[in-house]
Amino acid sequence: MHEAMLYEKLENKKVKCNLCGRRCLVNNNGTGFCLVRKNEEGTLFSLVYAKAISACIDPIEKKPLSHFNPGAAVMSVATVGCNFRCQFCDNWMISQEKKITGKHFPPEEVVKAVRDNGCHGISYTYTEPTVFFEYAYDTARLAHQVGFFNTFVTNGYMTPEAVKTIAPYLDAATVDFKGGGEPEFYKAFSSVPSVEPIFESLKEMKRNGIHIEVTNLVIPRVGESLEKVMELATWIRNNLGRDTPFHLLRFHPDYQLTTIPSTTIETLEKAYVTAKDAGLNYVYIGNVPGHPCENTYCPSCNELLIKRFSFEITKWNLTRNMRCPVCGQEIPIMGSLHKSGYAYPYALF
Ligand code: SF4
Repeated sequence: MHEAMLYEKLENKKVKCNLCGRRCLVNNNGTGFCLVRKNEEGTLFSLVYAKAISACIDPIEKKPLSHFNPGAAVMSVATVGCNFRCQFCDNWMISQEKKITGKHFPPEEVVKAVRDNGCHGISYTYTEPTVFFEYAYDTARLAHQVGFFNTFVTNGYMTPEAVKTIAPYLDAATVDFKGGGEPEFYKAFSSVPSVEPIFESLKEMKRNGIHIEVTNLVIPRVGESLEKVMELATWIRNNLGRDTPFHLLRFHPDYQLTTIPSTTIETLEKAYVTAKDAGLNYVYIGNVPGHPCENTYCPSCNELLIKRFSFEITKWNLTRNMRCPVCGQEIPIMGSLHKSGYAYPYALF
């Protein structure tokens, strides 16, 4: 077992975990809400350090990251565990797995696999990277030393301390909202008591210069309110900037929420217009392959700049210095365009 980072020792061998917004008080021999951090005699341990439940090579567009190293191949790594209990989780088999299980895959082997497979970086994803923080932190540090980038796909429920700690090694984050960030939705469908920590961690990411893209899962009946989309998009514009990419994702029934249908295209398109009306420059519709709102358009002259089909870039129409070829508008894309020869996804295990 690996001693945890970011916790406080309290009296009677209790500890307080300061890794995620829950800030669990954990009794001796108890585990936190995520079930992957255990207090043994007043010391908090990570139970999932270097125990990868999945390692797979993905296109970076799958995260989704549309304005960060486009076309890059990333090594996706996950352990079991999550600090949410989303009834609609599409990775519930591993995120909600109660048994500590996984293949021994230490940080140095992850980085070697990245290099051996010609990947450009690492994504800590599929389950919540916050709960395997120590593993991600050590891997990210090693990866940076040899020139690979690191990205989190996260529910954003991190403490500001956690964000500050990982920030020197974290290049980009996809922060996933569900149901427009509505607090009652999070309570009822994800067992999350308060959404405030998500907004705080986003502000901390911004302060630390991490590239941010935000997603919102639009869920019919229970989380498709256009008012909430407007509210969230306005918050993003005011706090993260109008150039922050915002992805509106189509819901598919899964896990315990199988009686709710997939989001209609019409609903997604209304949400798209709403987010644009809120003043965001780069809004996308996700999980609808071939939809024109998968593409990037110039916010100044509306020229088609990047054409995509699902996670594939099918046309690149930006100048070498990332400007619109028609009007010269600078397009905020971090890193460069990559090419990889993978037929995705490519699972290592
Ligand atoms: S990571 Fe979050 S859920 Fe897990 S023990 Fe720490 S505070 Fe609790």
